Amino acid sequence: MLDVLIVGAGPTGLTAGCLLARAGLSVRIVRKHRPFSGHSRASVIWPHALAILEPTGVTDVLAASGSRVTRLGYYSSGDPIGRFEIDRLTDTRYGFALGVSQHDTEAALESAFLVAGGEVDDGEVVHLDQDDQQVTVQVRSDGQLASRSARLLVGADGAGGAVRGLLGIAMADVGPRVSFRIADAVIDGLPEDEAAYCWTPGGGLAIGPHDRRAYRLAYRLTPDSPDASAASFQRLLDERGPRTRRGVVRDLVSTADFEARFAIADAFGLGRCLLAGDSAHVMAPAGGQGMNSGILDAAALSWRIVEARRNGLESPLAENFLQDYDAERQSAIRLVMATAIEHARDGGLRDGAEIAARDGRYAAMSDDPRAHVDRVARMSQLHVPGNPGNRRESEASHA
Ligand SMILES: Cc1cc2nc3c(=O)[nH]c(=O)nc-3n(C[C@H](O)[C@H](O)[C@H](O)COP(=O)(O)OP(=O)(O)OC[C@H]3O[C@@H](n4cnc5c(N)ncnc54)[C@H](O)[C@@H]3O)c2cc1C
Repeated sequence: MLDVLIVGAGPTGLTAGCLLARAGLSVRIVRKHRPFSGHSRASVIWPHALAILEPTGVTDVLAASGSRVTRLGYYSSGDPIGRFEIDRLTDTRYGFALGVSQHDTEAALESAFLVAGGEVDDGEVVHLDQDDQQVTVQVRSDGQLASRSARLLVGADGAGGAVRGLLGIAMADVGPRVSFRIADAVIDGLPEDEAAYCWTPGGGLAIGPHDRRAYRLAYRLTPDSPDASAASFQRLLDERGPRTRRGVVRDLVSTADFEARFAIADAFGLGRCLLAGDSAHVMAPAGGQGMNSGILDAAALSWRIVEARRNGLESPLAENFLQDYDAERQSAIRLVMATAIEHARDGGLRDGAEIAARDGRYAAMSDDPRAHVDRVARMSQLHVPGNPGNRRESEASHA
């Protein structure tokens, strides 16, 4: 019988697939057809996730096409208030984040998964049953239903997926709902190695190198937001961007509007089924943490599955198998979300006194060596409990 069935071929499912297949388990991914969207979703991979993907070869592939982001710049009404260097991190080999399209990340992960011996089926999981030895799902494809069984199942089917609901696990909001607009644009005049958070009393603008061809721009939508034209993005860059470097929009490649929420599943699995990535938690993209969290989930569950295999996956799972994963990743995700919510709140201040206090705080953080590194470690998810990545993950993937 198949060892692990993964539902979903986004970054989370593919990362779990790569790590498990490389460790010698039989793994199959079932994925619902997702129409190609012109715009990428995630555009940054932080150092912790880069280290997790390294043994699969994906980090090297992406490094060849992505932009190396070495610092985070914070600006208040165009003036710098803090500058955080990623290469001050000491717990990782990666002193940079990669600006890279999620399409490229998924393509690199999929080929690594297939090379490692994994298999992919097209189809939509619509029903799920499990007992103490196996999980069986019904998969709909071309109007036909087929069943697939495995010792374990990973639900990595994203925010709108089916597995969490089929397990009867609810998801609760832990933060505000926000609407935002993104654009990928070719822009002259901006640094290629800085992700910038530009805050003004009239609203913010995040600017990140997206890959070597384009930049990602993002801002929160309000009733008086401008339209999504190149001229409007140029105006926003002029009004909100760094005063020292004027960016000139040459080409607007794509734009999209989104509604996002901060929410966490009540449990990260049930019985022989584990949830990971957006099926277990969703967050607004400010700070670029959602996909990175999914990659860390995938590493945290993969090494546990590899360890469980030593006793035979057909045997009852160790009592603490799921609780341990659930506790580690729930608390990690709550920390990541707290940082993301705080970041969004800092960027949304309108009151002059609050803005002055915030600007002073960022300047002090940037100047203080410990606070400086702590800030970068938080953005890189190197501060989370359990540290699902480097040591244990490399053991799993080299097993
Ligand atoms: C505008 C935007 C910008 C973002 N920027 C960043 C960023 O810079 N950094 C970052 O870390 N994150 C970012 N994110 C978040 C990131 O895109 C998601 O967190 C990430 O895609 C989650 O990956 P996933 O694999 O868990 O789920 P998904 O990518 O949603 O993949 C789910 C998979 O499951 C499949 N599926 C769904 N239902 C079924 C079913 N019933 N049966 C079988 N298959 C099914 C889908 O077809 C798909 O293959 C951003 C998101 C948005 C919207």
